Amino acid sequence: MSSKTRPVKVGSLIVGGGHRPPVQSMWKEPLRADSLGAVAERTRTLAALGCGILRFSTPDIAQAELLGALAAMVEIPLVADVHFDWRIALRCMDFPIAKVRVNPGNLGEPWKLREVVAKAADKGIPIRIGVNAGSLPKDLQEEPDRASAIVTAAEREIAALDALDFVNVIVSMKASGVEETVRANRVFSGRHDIPLHIGVTEAGPLVQGCVRSAVALYALLADGIGDTLRVSLSDEPENEVIAGQEIVALASGTRHGADIVSCPRCGRAGFDTHAFTERWRDRIYSIRKPITVAVMGCVVNGPGEARHADIGITGVGDKVIVFRKGEISRTCVPEDADIVFGEELAKL
Ligand code: SF4
Repeated sequence: MSSKTRPVKVGSLIVGGGHRPPVQSMWKEPLRADSLGAVAERTRTLAALGCGILRFSTPDIAQAELLGALAAMVEIPLVADVHFDWRIALRCMDFPIAKVRVNPGNLGEPWKLREVVAKAADKGIPIRIGVNAGSLPKDLQEEPDRASAIVTAAEREIAALDALDFVNVIVSMKASGVEETVRANRVFSGRHDIPLHIGVTEAGPLVQGCVRSAVALYALLADGIGDTLRVSLSDEPENEVIAGQEIVALASGTRHGADIVSCPRCGRAGFDTHAFTERWRDRIYSIRKPITVAVMGCVVNGPGEARHADIGITGVGDKVIVFRKGEISRTCVPEDADIVFGEELAKL
């Protein structure tokens, strides 16, 4: 992981300075006063899965106030995503918001930026500048080298904050193309010590988005570039977090949570590995210990291939067995699989 960027405090976390990159996600609906409790609950699930930072769109003052109310209900650092209206950024900073994403260039007159920066400096709240390839300034839109245009756009935004002596900054530069995203971040990283939030934007639905993000983010993290990351998916935030955790685990060589080894299932299966894995997804990925959980359809590749697993489950004829380190610990009928597996898991 990167050690050359400067550390930036985001709520209770440090982003940059060589710290393990926190995985981020983004809430996908507008907040409503009558469902804040449910949002807080799901936010806690996301945190348990390994989400370190959660961002919310704040298109108006009402959303800013609801986000402020939510921030008082949860532990995880929350980020306000603001565009155009400086008053929304100011209102967000009345609450325990951990970071504001705002681009100086789209706030309008310079005095509006000065007000936002003064309040951020006063409250110790960092600003994330986010440049997306799809919304570059007009004069950069025809630039043939897209990666270079993205970096230039980011540097203009940084210069606007630098001019106000504000350096508590994180930058993201995202494109929907893997090559552009990787190159822009590499160029930027060679010039600046500002922490980078990395990600591929509009990456697509679950499978395509995970593949694109994994290719781009692994390449960057393996080079020591990237201080926090988001896997942007047309899918639920839980999957963004799980995908992000997996990328960080592979790139860093260290895993802070559970690893699932599951077979693809075939005609030999005596046990539905897909449904079981789906049912147990959140529970297993919420285990913050580096254990391996095996979910296998049959004995052909069951306990044998998954011998190293701390716990596993596999179909055997019309029965299911739960094993630990290759040794059978329980046998039951498939209908009792969840209960028996849960009891064994609780012993780890
Ligand atoms: S473990 Fe058994 S069910 Fe699963 S893919 Fe292998 S042979 Fe098929």
